[in-house]
Amino acid sequence: MAREEALEIGELLVELGYGHRKASKAARAALCDAGLTHPGKSAISSAKREMVAEALRARFVLLCGQKECRSEYKDRSRGGEALAGRKVLPSLEARHCEVCGGSNNARSAQRMLRLLEAQGIRRIIVVGGSPASREELLALMKGKVSLRLVSGTDRRTREEAQRDLEWAELVVVWGATQLDHKVSNLYARHGPGGAPVILVRRRGIAALSDEITRHCGG
Ligand SMILES: [Zn+2]
Repeated sequence: MAREEALEIGELLVELGYGHRKASKAARAALCDAGLTHPGKSAISSAKREMVAEALRARFVLLCGQKECRSEYKDRSRGGEALAGRKVLPSLEARHCEVCGGSNNARSAQRMLRLLEAQGIRRIIVVGGSPASREELLALMKGKVSLRLVSGTDRRTREEAQRDLEWAELVVVWGATQLDHKVSNLYARHGPGGAPVILVRRRGIAALSDEITRHCGG
């Protein structure tokens, strides 16, 4: 078992994300309320670290200053995905934000997902992108939409592309990435009546998400 030591409460609160003056004040009051410390005390035993973290997680949610994170959290707690009834506190550093964790990609992707859902779009094909960005995209969109990722450099037949296009509700051709014309032409130049095609001309998941968000009217 780890040796017990005295921690400075203020430092522990900063470490847990409650560094903002308002958050720190609310957190201290909650810890007194939970009997984990007393008013005026400045040190706390390191053995209580987990209890402190848990008591705070149960009462508060830390969000960064982005309004997208606020509305996303509201939607999540309404939908039962996030623990509701907690008081929102500002996080001093975005990395402590429960929604985005300080990541532009996550924030943009979440906004896009909300709009896709509002439009009832569930099946998306993304053509191109690096293997790493495709992997990140899959992780961000997991469970929300069905994503078919088409490598921009592997051979694809016209029949395979046709099947993809019949399946998809939205096709995203991700230019400025690893994407051969032979592949992109199969998707970008298909005949009338198919799913809408968006051309994204910038790299990065945030750029891709923002372009889809714009397409969905966001
Ligand atoms: Zn955030």
